[in-house]
Amino acid sequence: MSPQTLRGRLTLWYGALLTAVLLLFGIGFYAALARNLYRGVDQKLLALAEVVAESSVRNFLRPGYTNFARLLEEFFGVPAAGQFIQVLDPSGKVGARSQNLILRNLPVSREALRRAVHGQRVFETVPDPHAPLRVLTYPIIVRGRVRNVVQVATSLESVVTTLRQVLLALAVGIPLTLFLVLWGGWFLAGRALRPLDGLVAALRRLDADRLAARLPEDEGTEEVRELARSINGLLRRLADAFRRVREFTADASHELRTPLTVLRGEAEVALRHPRTAEEYQQVLASGLEEIHRMGRIVEDLLLLAKGDLGEAPVEKVPLRLEEVLGELASRAAVLAEAKGLEFTWAGGPPIQVEADPLRLRQLVWNLLDNAVKYTSEGGKVFLSHARSGPGWARITVKDTGIGIPSEHQAKIFERFYRVDKHRSRAQGGSGLGLAICRWIAEVHGGRIEVRSQPGRGSSFIVHLPEAPDPGA
Ligand code: ADP
Repeated sequence: MSPQTLRGRLTLWYGALLTAVLLLFGIGFYAALARNLYRGVDQKLLALAEVVAESSVRNFLRPGYTNFARLLEEFFGVPAAGQFIQVLDPSGKVGARSQNLILRNLPVSREALRRAVHGQRVFETVPDPHAPLRVLTYPIIVRGRVRNVVQVATSLESVVTTLRQVLLALAVGIPLTLFLVLWGGWFLAGRALRPLDGLVAALRRLDADRLAARLPEDEGTEEVRELARSINGLLRRLADAFRRVREFTADASHELRTPLTVLRGEAEVALRHPRTAEEYQQVLASGLEEIHRMGRIVEDLLLLAKGDLGEAPVEKVPLRLEEVLGELASRAAVLAEAKGLEFTWAGGPPIQVEADPLRLRQLVWNLLDNAVKYTSEGGKVFLSHARSGPGWARITVKDTGIGIPSEHQAKIFERFYRVDKHRSRAQGGSGLGLAICRWIAEVHGGRIEVRSQPGRGSSFIVHLPEAPDPGA
């Protein structure tokens, strides 16, 4: 089971890697050392056997001669202490031997003797009660014939002891190193990750009401600072979204409360005294107006809510833009004339778009209605369309009305946002029209923008993708 914490995992991975490296190193080191030590012993034995096989020594090879070690040291300067030397005839009978072999026997392997008689040098390790012995069986060849066989041997005690000590050092050193390094790794991982604990604690203190709080962005390593910056960015966006939701709820209730207050006030006044039939009619007519107004707001809100959820029905069909706009232009002309405005629709090139006819009309009508609403008598309103680039159509609604101050221009597409609340409400507006326009433009793959100068007028421009011409 792997540990759940990052600290535990880092330490575990680190530990596993280190164990593998240390074991490989230990095995490699031990193997190389053992090979070198054994090779050294073999070289010494070979040198000694070669000296014994020298012709000048051969004279002493008679049976019963036991002082090889002294002879070799005194006359040839070859240190032979601790080595066993014996000479055999080809049948395996022992002749001369070193002093240390008087009381004990050097085990002679038949196989080694057989091979030596055939002229081969044979190295063997044979067991011995004290420590294993390394034995070299070496043929002495005179005039092409094996005359004798010399055996030199040495105890492997020092090699075995050295290797045992090294093994012990590795067996203690590797776990100890592992323990120390893992402990250090655990400690360092804890230190490196501590700033994260700080972030988690700071995040826990946050809640929906305290989204204005921010995490410290200048503590810990660059990664931690980057994380804190990203979380702060998210908090900013969340706080913004929460603020908009709150404002929206407040605005929506306010919008609905106003017509309700008017309705209740009028009903209460009407009920104070008996009234004539005409007076009741008047009160009911005024009430109906407020009910229409509330109904419009609720419908607009519902449309936007469904639009947010992607559930508002939008059925796109191929439409000729000039035809839809022409039809709206005749209605707008009547509206403009009633307010004493000059309305111009110059027509335009035939352009086909894929759009929901109802929504496209709603979009352009909202803009035309606003243009008439926010332009005073004697002003002008223009409607036009054109190709704005390859594959794009542009619809422009322009007026010479009151205009929109630049600081408000980006916000007028937000729900319930109005530059002048009283003026807008007096004109029957609820502040949802442009939000709906933007949603319609976007759901058709387009966008809407505004250009305006206060006191001189505004232009609303809708960009829509052109439908591919079926005839092309
Ligand atoms: P409303 O129902 O208030 O007209 P909209 O969403 O249609 O709501 O418009 C939002 C605000 O943008 C309006 O209240 C008004 O202040 C401003 N506005 C929209 N169109 C125009 C225009 N043609 N000229 C000047 N101001 C405009």
